[in-house]
Amino acid sequence: MKLSIHNISKRYNKGKKRALDHLSLELTPGVYGILGPNGAGKSTLMNIITDNLKPDSGQVTFNGQNITELGKSYRDILGYMPQQQGLYEDFTGRRFLWYMAALKGLPKSLAEERIRHLLQIVNLEQDANKRLGSYSGGMKQRILIAQALLNDPKILILDEPTAGLDPKERIRIRNFISTIAMNKIVILATHVVPDIEFIAKQIILMKQGQLVIQDEPQPILNRMR
Ligand code: ADP
Ligand code: ADP
Repeated sequence: MKLSIHNISKRYNKGKKRALDHLSLELTPGVYGILGPNGAGKSTLMNIITDNLKPDSGQVTFNGQNITELGKSYRDILGYMPQQQGLYEDFTGRRFLWYMAALKGLPKSLAEERIRHLLQIVNLEQDANKRLGSYSGGMKQRILIAQALLNDPKILILDEPTAGLDPKERIRIRNFISTIAMNKIVILATHVVPDIEFIAKQIILMKQGQLVIQDEPQPILNRMR
């Protein structure tokens, strides 16, 4: 299984603002931490990988096939955990998962089984019938991860999964991510180094739309320290 980013460039504002500059990456199963300062191009890259944004040039391929041509069959293997915003506060955790399962087109019987299983994995069984509005920050992050896993994705994209959490919750989320990462390509964007120090196979360090370095965590973190 291989996700390849081939020589991607992207500009905004009619070409005036450069966001990605001839970026190439090869990703195989494992956790990749994407690190970089604000404006480095992390969100743009994730929007292109999820096929929500078209690059100006270059292409993304999954096992050698262009993701835009794969279309729905590509979206079916994709799981995306967005940053926490616009969560349906009046939905219960369970109703939210059912709603997301319907959006993803999961058959009812499969949805039922997955929802039960995932509520267990993210340790929200006891709170499944409570309103999302009453959830703590950590519980909200966990239900967002659960919805990203509903279709058992091969590619899982996590955007700042520990944002706004206290240190104890952060560690829980990290451990949890490493347990669900098996046989998946996991792309985790963060600016919190400890989030990926111990769970990432590789760190992808970006700056001004370019790849600075892609390597195992330790050599990169030693360089940064
Ligand atoms: P990051 O996620 O690493 O903060 P982004 O991909 O959001 O980086 O942004 C990369 C660059 O592109 C930044 O300079 C940002 O200001 C610019 N940018 C991002 N989105 C837009 C947009 N919709 N319109 C104009 N410029 C944008
Ligand atoms: P258990 O861990 O309780 O043995 P299984 O691994 O047998 O559970 O999975 C139960 C159901 O949940 C299966 O139908 C499986 O497809 C689904 N499932 C397992 N792992 C995931 C996952 N990470 N994301 C989505 N669905 C999953």
